[in-house]
Amino acid sequence: MGMESHTTMLAGGELVAIGGENESEVFDASTGELLARVADATEADVDRAVAAARRAFPAWRDATPGVRAAAMLAFADAIDAATERLAAAESANTGKPLTAAREEVAAASDCVRFFAGAGRCLEGRSAGEYTPGFTSIIRREPIGVAGLIAAWNYPLVVAAWKFCPALAAGNTVILKPAEQTPLTALILAELSLEVLPPGVFNVVPGRGETTGQAIVTHPDIDVVSLTGSSPTGKLIAAAAAQTLKRVHLELGGKAPVLIFDDADPAQVAEAIRFGGFWNSGQDCGAASRLLVSEGAFERIAEALVPAVQSLRVGGPTEAENSEMGPLAFSAHRDRVVGFIDRAVVTGASVLAGGHELSRAGYFVAPTVLTDAAPSSEIVRDEVFGPVVLLERCADEEELLGRAADTRFGLAASIFTRDVGRAMDVSRQLDFGTVWINTHSPIAVEMPWGGFRQSGYGNEQSVYSLEEYTQIKHVMVRLPS
Ligand code: NAD
Repeated sequence: MGMESHTTMLAGGELVAIGGENESEVFDASTGELLARVADATEADVDRAVAAARRAFPAWRDATPGVRAAAMLAFADAIDAATERLAAAESANTGKPLTAAREEVAAASDCVRFFAGAGRCLEGRSAGEYTPGFTSIIRREPIGVAGLIAAWNYPLVVAAWKFCPALAAGNTVILKPAEQTPLTALILAELSLEVLPPGVFNVVPGRGETTGQAIVTHPDIDVVSLTGSSPTGKLIAAAAAQTLKRVHLELGGKAPVLIFDDADPAQVAEAIRFGGFWNSGQDCGAASRLLVSEGAFERIAEALVPAVQSLRVGGPTEAENSEMGPLAFSAHRDRVVGFIDRAVVTGASVLAGGHELSRAGYFVAPTVLTDAAPSSEIVRDEVFGPVVLLERCADEEELLGRAADTRFGLAASIFTRDVGRAMDVSRQLDFGTVWINTHSPIAVEMPWGGFRQSGYGNEQSVYSLEEYTQIKHVMVRLPS
C-alpha cells in the first residue's frame, strides 16, 4: 500500500476539504513505515459537520424506524462488500492479522444489522391513567446530534458500537476516529455517501485535544460518547459539564481472572492465551491479572507459559497464520516496554517474553510476569499490551479481596468446576461483565459497559439505545 494523503472529511453528505494546516501521520504498525497523512479537522470544520448534522436531524428523527433500518441495512451491505478494502486498511494500520481484521469488518456490519432491527422493536411501559381523567404516555426520543469519539484498538468496531445505536434511535452523528487509526472511518465515510441521507453520518478526523475537544465543547452537540482511557474520560466529563451535554464513557480496564484450586489448567491456559493476548492485549477487557489459588499455582503456570510461548507472532502480510501482531503505534510500544522494565526492576520475575522484538514494527513478545509487589504499577495500572501477571493467593478471601482492589470495573472472570461457587462469586464481583470458565467472548445482543473508573453507560445490546434516547411524558386530558 503506497503512502496516502487524506485532506477531506465527511460533512452533510459531501467529502469536503479540511481547512487547517495540521495533519496526523499514520503508520504501518508491523513495519513502522509511513502509511498516510491525514489532515486534522479544525474547530471550524467541526462546526460545519455539526451544522450539517443539525440540519439532517429532524428528517432522520421523523423517519420511521423501518425507513432508518432500510438505510442501515444498505450500509451493512456496503460494509460487507468492502470487506477486503476495510480489512487491508485496518490490518496495515494496526498490525493486526488480516483474519482478525476481516472478522472485525463482519462484526461491524453485524452490529449495523442488529441495531437496524433493534430500533424497530423498542419497548416501553404501558400508557395509562395515573391521574383520573388523564392518559399518560411515555415517548422514547432521540437526543439530537451525537459526538462519537473512538479509540484505536478496534477502530471499526468501536465506531460501530457507537454510531449503530445512535443512528437506529434517530440521532445524527459526528464520528471522530483516533488520530493513530483513522483510515477505516474514512472508508466508512465514503461508503455512507451512497446509502445514508446527507448529514446523518459525518466523519471528522483529528487529534483529541483539538478536534475532539471541539466536539466535546460544541454547544450544538447533545451527547458525547467516548471509548478511551480513564484520564481522557475525566477530561471529557468535565468539559461536557460546561454545556451539560450527556456523556457516555467506555474506559480502561484491568481484568482480574480468579482461578480456584479446582480449575482445569488446560482450559485456563487456552482461555488466557486468547483472552490476554488477542489484539496484542490491546483490549479493555483483556485478562491481565491472574489471581491464582495457592494449590493451583504451579499447575496453572506450567500450562500457561508454554501456551503463551506458542503464540505465532507476525505482521499481517508476512504470515497468513499469524495470531498476534505488533502494538498499534510506537509510543504505545514504548509505554508497554516501560511497564515491563519497571516491573522487573522492582522485583517481578519474567516467566515468558519480557522484551520487545528486534525487528521493524512495534512488536513486543507475549509476556508472563509474576511476583510483582501488590502496590506496584504493573498490578494497578492498565498496560494495554501482551502482558499477563500471575499473582499467588492463599484462599478464596484473598482472591476476592485482590480482585476488588482496583479502581477499574469493566470485566472479570472466574475459573472453577463448582457451579455454586461460580454463581456466588460472580454476584460479588463489581464488574460490568463476568465470565465463567472463559475470558473474552462477547455478543452484540448483550451489554458491554464498565463500573467505577471504567466509565458508565453501555455499548451493544438494546441497553445502548438508552444512551442515545431520552424519555418524554405526554399527558392528555380526556373529555370529561
Ligand atoms: P485516549 O483516551 O488517549 O484516546 C481515545 C480517543 O479520545 C481518541 O479518539 C482521542 O483522540 C480522543 N481524545 C483524547 N483526548 C481528548 C480530549 N481532551 N478531548 C476529546 N477527545 C480526546 O485513549 P487511548 O489511550 O489512545 O486508548 C486506549 C484506551 O481506551 C485504554 O484505556 C482502553 O482500555 C480504552 N478502551 C476502552 C474500551 C471499552 O470498551 N471500555 C474499548 C477500547 C479501548
